[in-house]
Amino acid sequence: MTAATAAARGGTHDAAGGPGDVSHGDDQPPGLPTYDWNTAPRHLLATRRQLRARGLRPGGQNPVAQLRCKDCTGLTRDCGRMAWLYQVALALPVRQMTLAKEVALDRAMAARQTCPKCRRRFIACLPLRTLGSCLECYDGTPVDPRLVMFPAPQPDPAAADTATLPRRDVAA
Ligand SMILES: [Zn+2]
Ligand SMILES: [Zn+2]
Repeated sequence: MTAATAAARGGTHDAAGGPGDVSHGDDQPPGLPTYDWNTAPRHLLATRRQLRARGLRPGGQNPVAQLRCKDCTGLTRDCGRMAWLYQVALALPVRQMTLAKEVALDRAMAARQTCPKCRRRFIACLPLRTLGSCLECYDGTPVDPRLVMFPAPQPDPAAADTATLPRRDVAA
């Protein structure tokens, strides 16, 4: 462990780096253990990029350590390209979470963008609370087709007869 370098740094590390500085610009919290390049326990800690390579993301956790860059290996200078290290155990999968989030979000949006009367989904939210439907269903104002994201399930007579669309109130 080279966490001792954290103490050696003396806490005067400013985010200011040289011209080649590619680090995060934000202030680094003092007191985090610092690892030299290639010395961090990989099964426990990983940078954001390393997590990403495994299909993971930090998932809201705070970094628990920082990693000095390769060029600073063996040197005692302050590293201007420190990378955050996150706990692998607390990391979350990237893809699944994003997808789940998107699905949930889309479901919420669909509810606000779909007219309950004509079943068309619009690209913008509808005044469902005030009008209860799209403008066309409300007072006959023709809808700009460009505003329709998904067309209505077409009033297919055959489908209506066999009542395959349970939520359609076209029985009368
Ligand atoms: Zn460095
Ligand atoms: Zn409508």
